[in-house]
Amino acid sequence: MTSAIVTLGTGAGKSNGADAMMALIEELFPICRSITGDGLRLTLEVLRRYVPLEVYEVASGTQVLDWTIPREWNIREAYIAHADGTRVVDFAANNLHIMQYSRPIDAVMTLSELRPYLYTMPGQPDWVPYRTSYYKEDWGFCLSERTLSRLPDGNYRVVIDADLSPGHLSYGELLLSGASDQTVLFSCHVCHPSLANDNLSGIAAAVMLASHLQTLQLRYSYRFLFIPGTIGSLTWLARNERAVAKISHGLVLSCLGDAGGVTYKQSRGGNAAIDRIVAHVLHHDVPPYRITPFIPYGYDERQYCSPGFDLPVGCLMRTPNGEYPEYHSSADNLSLLRPDSLAHSLDVLRRIVSVIEGEAIYRSRNLKGEPQLGRRGLYAPSGGHRTLPYDQMALLWLLNLADGRHSLLDVAERAGVPFAAIRAAADALIGADLLDEVTP
Ligand code: ZN
Repeated sequence: MTSAIVTLGTGAGKSNGADAMMALIEELFPICRSITGDGLRLTLEVLRRYVPLEVYEVASGTQVLDWTIPREWNIREAYIAHADGTRVVDFAANNLHIMQYSRPIDAVMTLSELRPYLYTMPGQPDWVPYRTSYYKEDWGFCLSERTLSRLPDGNYRVVIDADLSPGHLSYGELLLSGASDQTVLFSCHVCHPSLANDNLSGIAAAVMLASHLQTLQLRYSYRFLFIPGTIGSLTWLARNERAVAKISHGLVLSCLGDAGGVTYKQSRGGNAAIDRIVAHVLHHDVPPYRITPFIPYGYDERQYCSPGFDLPVGCLMRTPNGEYPEYHSSADNLSLLRPDSLAHSLDVLRRIVSVIEGEAIYRSRNLKGEPQLGRRGLYAPSGGHRTLPYDQMALLWLLNLADGRHSLLDVAERAGVPFAAIRAAADALIGADLLDEVTP
């Protein structure tokens, strides 16, 4: 094990990534993303400045499992205007004003004719909701309840200048090859327009984690997917059955920048190694945190954990989808994000990776009685002034449980200390030729 791995989670003396994540999010925020189209492509292009993503384009009409890749949607302009041309709702002011995948229209209609196509959030009269209609041809505008309530009767010009035509679905993929082809999957959706926490926070955390992992010698391979929600994961799964079989651990990343504590949604079975690893990291983290069982609702874990795949994939969030009032509205904007939360989320991810990378099983070369640590410089006499780079109890626990059957995570849990302490103790014992690694 390289020492680089051991220091993965410390972050000491380094930037915590918050500034870089905020800068990326601010750049991506204005772009009108959808499940297809040029906004999605532009987003992937921006990400390619940070990490060398491969971008894939899959044609409309392609069958992916039980689904079909839809037509590509691109929008240039959309507005509702009074007869004199004054715009009362304008896509140029906020891309949430248009229901995603709206078909083109250019018509004059009365307010009562228009109303069925207008969406508001009556409980939050100043917010604009986020609406989509990907798979049913429709059109619509989203606006604040306050704006709607002030619209006088009369005729309105309604314009949506958009294309809904055969094209491609785009997604980005980054594979960081480690010593093993066993893979850790990180997946985030990149299909939401100007929404910060739901979408951009997960993207930013994934990019910064990937750019960090790029600098390390890795035991596992790491695959990062930047995909449109649902149809993107279905597409990737349909095209990558061989890679799917190599996935040992996985996390869907979303909603990682709000002020709430971390929420971990377990994999389908709730008993995968990733479930245990994340629980361990959170147990030694600052409260509050929550661990919730899998439900077949949420993000792309629904596809990864469908029974035919049943992958060991959980979902890491702060406040989950639907549980914060700003969710899927114009209030999920840059002001909702906390740089400290982003940095903490990234740190948790780094610590999760450091457990994945550092987990191993060892057997002590001195099973009968403790080895004499003092003559190896591994024992700190009480009252001594020397500071050891590892915890003395961690070392004793590891020696006791290094029987070839307990993994380092087993030891950490039994000893009640963070994994990193046991990993550091293992490295010290390996340095003194006291441990052999056991291949499980
Ligand atoms: Zn969403």
